[in-house]
Amino acid sequence: MKNSLIKREHDSIFQTYKRLPIVVDHAEGARITDVEGNVYLDFLGGIAVNALGHSHPKIIEAINNQIKKYIHLSNYFYQEPQVLLAEKLKSISGYDRVFFSNSGTEANEGAIKLARRWGYDKEKTHIIGFTGGFHGRTYGTLSLMDKPLYKEKMGPFLPNMRMLQYNNIQALIGEINDFTCAIIIEFIQGEGGITSAENEFIDKIFDLKKKFGFLVIADEIQCGTGRTGKFFGFNHYDVSPDIVTMAKGIGGGLPLGAILAKEELAKVWEKGMHGTTYGGNALACTTGLVVLEELDNGLMTHVSETGHYFTNMLKRIQKEFPTLIYEVRGIGLMQGLLLSFDANELVNALLEKKIITNAASGKVLRLVPPLIITKDDVNELIDTLRQCLNNFNK
Ligand code: PLP
Repeated sequence: MKNSLIKREHDSIFQTYKRLPIVVDHAEGARITDVEGNVYLDFLGGIAVNALGHSHPKIIEAINNQIKKYIHLSNYFYQEPQVLLAEKLKSISGYDRVFFSNSGTEANEGAIKLARRWGYDKEKTHIIGFTGGFHGRTYGTLSLMDKPLYKEKMGPFLPNMRMLQYNNIQALIGEINDFTCAIIIEFIQGEGGITSAENEFIDKIFDLKKKFGFLVIADEIQCGTGRTGKFFGFNHYDVSPDIVTMAKGIGGGLPLGAILAKEELAKVWEKGMHGTTYGGNALACTTGLVVLEELDNGLMTHVSETGHYFTNMLKRIQKEFPTLIYEVRGIGLMQGLLLSFDANELVNALLEKKIITNAASGKVLRLVPPLIITKDDVNELIDTLRQCLNNFNK
């Protein structure tokens, strides 16, 4: 079964993904079981998506209830799950309006369009992204990213988009001016290797914002929805961005993204200016609501506590292997280990021992488990890491 399915995949699907050699049978909580009965501990969480883990009973119940009513209607109709989720997001975030999309890249694409529309009459058209950022795979988002593999021979990209060095205050000066329409930033970069923005860097961006009057778009697709122990990654800083984009965790495993903005900004889009067929799909919104309710009902505190424990345990293991682990990075349940060697080697070693992780930015082992992970799960990872690193030391 395993080998034949892998071969059929190779024969029938675009070969764009480097998949793990696992054919999944089912998954529950933080465990994934393959067709041969092997059980894996999941520290990838569907790439920071499965906030409540796999097959959470409340997610299943919400889907079952909604499926009996309707699955898809389109945005020609008023649908209660969308409204409920939007209201909940408003009350948690303090923003006034929500636009639902299907994915992260679409949320960012929409945010760029919203910013450009806002800036048009002011002749503000320049959008700025930062090195190491990841915003998606569409043209707008790729135009703001410095990932050669994702862009090679697929240009030209969009005009008036430029990239500055992350965490480099000097790089901002001179490059940001009256023509700057918006900057897009991950306060904690995910794909970029779990790198947090420095306070001084953020302060400088917001100083320049006061001077030149551009918009700040916070890409909260990976670091948002409670992953860092606060609802948004930017909640660790004393600022409020103009536009916030969400996806991944917010859908609880179903495809969902969102753009959040204050009324003043949201109203620059009038009827018909932006839209999507599936965005805000009822099933995805129902599961989104479950995620937000669980975060309210103690999950956020759990992330914060487990996150502290996780950080301490990772720091302890770093002390044991200082020549192999240079740095422990991240907040809450968004952690990374900067290694002295290619992180894929450690990913493979952990996989042999039935723990699923992945590599970000070459030398960083990325750890973004489901938010329901327990201290026992953390201990299991740490013990296994120790075994693997001991082998690397030899
Ligand atoms: N922004 C960030 C910070 C991400 O981590 C990702 C995906 O990894 C995206 C945007 C793109 O999201 P999607 O793959 O849903 O389009």
